[in-house]
Amino acid sequence: MIVLKFGGSSVRDAEWIDRVVSIAGTYLDRSPVLVSSAMGKTTDALVRITEAAEKGDHAAAREEIAKIRVHHLATASASLTGANHAETVARLTAYLDDLSLLVQGVSLIRECSPRTRDAVLSYGELLSTTLIAARARERGIPTTLLDSREFIKTDETFTNATVLFAETNDAVRRAVTPKRGELFVAQGFIGSTGTGVTTTLGRGGSDYSATIIGAALGASEVQIWTDVDGIMTTDPRIIPGAVTVASLTYDEAGELAYFGAKVVHPFTIHPAVELGIPVVVKNTGNPEAPGTRVSDSTETSGLKAIARKNGVVVVTIHSSRMVNAYGFLSRIFRVFEQYRVSVDLVATSEVSVSVTIEDTPRIAVITRDLERLGRVEVERDRGIICLVGRELWKDSAFVARVFAVLTEVPIRMITLGSSDTNLSLVVPGGDTATAIRLLHAEFFDPA
Ligand code: ADP
Ligand code: ASP
Ligand code: MG
Repeated sequence: MIVLKFGGSSVRDAEWIDRVVSIAGTYLDRSPVLVSSAMGKTTDALVRITEAAEKGDHAAAREEIAKIRVHHLATASASLTGANHAETVARLTAYLDDLSLLVQGVSLIRECSPRTRDAVLSYGELLSTTLIAARARERGIPTTLLDSREFIKTDETFTNATVLFAETNDAVRRAVTPKRGELFVAQGFIGSTGTGVTTTLGRGGSDYSATIIGAALGASEVQIWTDVDGIMTTDPRIIPGAVTVASLTYDEAGELAYFGAKVVHPFTIHPAVELGIPVVVKNTGNPEAPGTRVSDSTETSGLKAIARKNGVVVVTIHSSRMVNAYGFLSRIFRVFEQYRVSVDLVATSEVSVSVTIEDTPRIAVITRDLERLGRVEVERDRGIICLVGRELWKDSAFVARVFAVLTEVPIRMITLGSSDTNLSLVVPGGDTATAIRLLHAEFFDPA
């Protein structure tokens, strides 16, 4: 079987949903499961709705819900006819009425817990997949619409739930039974706890849903369909001249995703690795383009792509007690672990340790705890530039070129990923775009 995942821009309106159904139609002989995001920017609108409702601004929330209603019903009218149209409108209306009630409740009590926020956000995918499945049926494709909450099982970390793989794999195998010539449609992004409460996998999480389902079913391939021609040498929104990378290893794609290449969610690669399932990233607007193939092929070494991550904080702990002392690093990491904050990069010297973390309101308490171990310095608004490719350090000429082009950019920290697939630099947040531009021009632009 094959999993086809479509992002929000790929299902933005009736015309694009039709395009998506056409693409899925060409894969019917490979028993496809289609996983979709919410239409266009619906999830962003749902986030605004929760924020407005929480402030008690029910009028603003209601107005946003009305826009969502109009867009989904207009899409139904443009793509469906007869009983199919009537049934779909009834289903969409039921969802939208439930959403309105829920949001009204939030406005009244002016409180939106992470659990309620997940319930609200889940409607984006529930609505989009209703339309996609209906359009596929309209075009004569035998179609089953699934509810991903029945088989993506998670813990209770609302807004960013952790997938429970043993339960999920069993549940997916029971609920999703792909067949040749038929289409199965499932929501990305959403799941549920053991007791059936709706959760989400974090923003951008539909890519992850796709590989979770693909791995559970032993897919021959997972395709991530988006709005660019694959994974590119860097974000084409920063560098319009960025070009598609034909192939990447799982490690390379994982590092890129983790360090800011939004094109795939950071967790997407993990479920595919164990079974060696290829993940192919393709453009819904340009299906003929080959896209990027991510697999375990060990191809060329050298630089493949550059990513950046903003909103990074560097925390440095200075202490002379580190000299010849064991257990010091573990005490530092225990503090981050206690607050469930993950450390991205680490650099140590004899008397200090610097780590990078994502900016979080918990920094104040973390700093207070770390101060028991030494003097603490916190630098906010930093960015990470991550150069991805195998064995970059082995090429000293390459490393020299990196530093030569960045002479004007102050580099605060340097690390080499232990997987030997990245060279990461911490620079001031305001300099990440300049750094990417200089590096891209040096390594990828034709002379
Ligand atoms: P979708 O809605 O399909 O999930 P996303 O917006 O999440 O799409 O991801 C696609 C976007 O990722 C692209 O439009 C592009 O701006 C951004 N992006 C960032 N880094 C890269 C990269 N290295 N290659 C391709 N796209 C990238
Ligand atoms: N719709 C969700 C989001 O916008 C999930 C996704 O698109 O991957 O974050
Ligand atoms: Mg995405």
